[in-house]
Amino acid sequence: MHDQADVNDAIAAVCTAPGAAGLAVLRVSGPAALAIAGSVFRGGLPLGSAASHTLHHGWAWAPGSSPGAVETAHASESNGRGEARRLDEVIAAVFRAPRSYTGEDVVELSCHGGRISCQRVLDALIAAGARLAAPGEFTLRAFLNGRIDLAQAEAVADVIHAESEAAHELALAQLAGALSRRLERASERIADALAEVEARVDFAEDVGGVEVPSHVVMLIADLSAELRAMLASAAWGRALRDGVQLPLVGHPNVGKSSLFNALVGEERAIVTTLPGTTRDRVSEAVEIAGVRVTLSDTAGLRATADAVEAIGVRLARETLDRSRAVLWVVDGSAPLDPEARRTAGSFAGKRVLAALNKRDLGAVVPVPEIETLLAAAAWRRVVEVSATQGTGIEELRQAIMAMVGAEAEGRNAPPTMAALSNPRHVEALRRAQQALDRAAGIAAAGEPGELVALELRDCLEAIGEVTGRSVDADLLDRIFGKFCIGK
Ligand code: GDP
Repeated sequence: MHDQADVNDAIAAVCTAPGAAGLAVLRVSGPAALAIAGSVFRGGLPLGSAASHTLHHGWAWAPGSSPGAVETAHASESNGRGEARRLDEVIAAVFRAPRSYTGEDVVELSCHGGRISCQRVLDALIAAGARLAAPGEFTLRAFLNGRIDLAQAEAVADVIHAESEAAHELALAQLAGALSRRLERASERIADALAEVEARVDFAEDVGGVEVPSHVVMLIADLSAELRAMLASAAWGRALRDGVQLPLVGHPNVGKSSLFNALVGEERAIVTTLPGTTRDRVSEAVEIAGVRVTLSDTAGLRATADAVEAIGVRLARETLDRSRAVLWVVDGSAPLDPEARRTAGSFAGKRVLAALNKRDLGAVVPVPEIETLLAAAAWRRVVEVSATQGTGIEELRQAIMAMVGAEAEGRNAPPTMAALSNPRHVEALRRAQQALDRAAGIAAAGEPGELVALELRDCLEAIGEVTGRSVDADLLDRIFGKFCIGK
């Protein structure tokens, strides 16, 4: 699909979302973009002679029907051949290579919104010789032409799909090259270490024996620590990019729905004094410190004879099994239900935030008792709240934040905006870091420098997969195939 031989074609697509709107934008890119767009567009000036970064008002005409050479925006409906057909009134923006999104000649045509205008203009561009762009092909060309690296190209998709301000900021930082620059610097240092090791290996062929000098060993350890720190930011980055699922679990009537409402800030879940009212999951996304947290209210965990409630309980258990993080709601004003102890048994390895609710009615369950029950959890914190009085809710929000950032090496403050967020990058950098660790181990054991060099090369290769220095056509297809058309 993304054959490099295609790069000389002019590609065209609608870049804006379909539907009624003020404007829709089409883009044409390629060496023939100006000629193709120019054969559809008629304005005050032929597009072929337009300077770069200029705007031109005019009309798009159906192929073969344009009213002759260059006409004004007020050209007549017919040129006398009875065929002229206006498609839409448009503004053409001209960007000449290499100062364009793709690095090629690009024309962007802004037409009226709605389905018909842009579809007609797109059909005209295709009849004039453009090919419909494949998904992500404009951004692929920007990458192939060296305008942006691969991590930046992927950030374009993240900017578009961001659903919280923090996710958007993280994606913008990556688009601006924050991650790429950091990896570029690390690659340069690894390349220096590799050059030094290889020079010694070559020299050793003459003199016999090869040692990796201690400053190179230290450099490798240093770089490994840097990659480790970047990987540690991945949990936070993923949380920013994809949001976090946080189900509220607990026994009937402990106040899950009330707490859900208190966190969401509106009457969304049904609150009643009858146990077993929440039979279905109700979800709502809230932004906590810029992270999109999808809270879901689940049915109370208990044995029940009611068939509908039983389905709710089964769904709640499934959600609990799947979740890596849960908000466990406990009635803190009454002695602990023995079933609550059993529920706590299913928290091993999960991150658990316990809300000791109904504290306005009395503090019967001691905080340390809950902490002890959560001994097997991967992360735990207990917060005393009253969902109906609204006390402790802010502290609960902060604890949710801390839980989201918990995997980022225990830090509670959000890491820098250069956080890793793309699973593909995380996977490649993990391999890079492991290669560095192996290189350090081999060097420390005094083994031949050739082996160290092999690991350093693997490390560079893995980093190159993120920045796009070392990628094959299949990987590009996989990455850009997920983009939508027009991007
Ligand atoms: P769920 O079954 O766990 O979802 O519990 P609900 O949210 O439906 O609450 C059950 C009952 O407990 C309702 O009557 C709530 O008003 C009450 N309730 C919930 N939270 C509190 C609280 O913090 N203090 C008091 N006094 N009552 C609460």
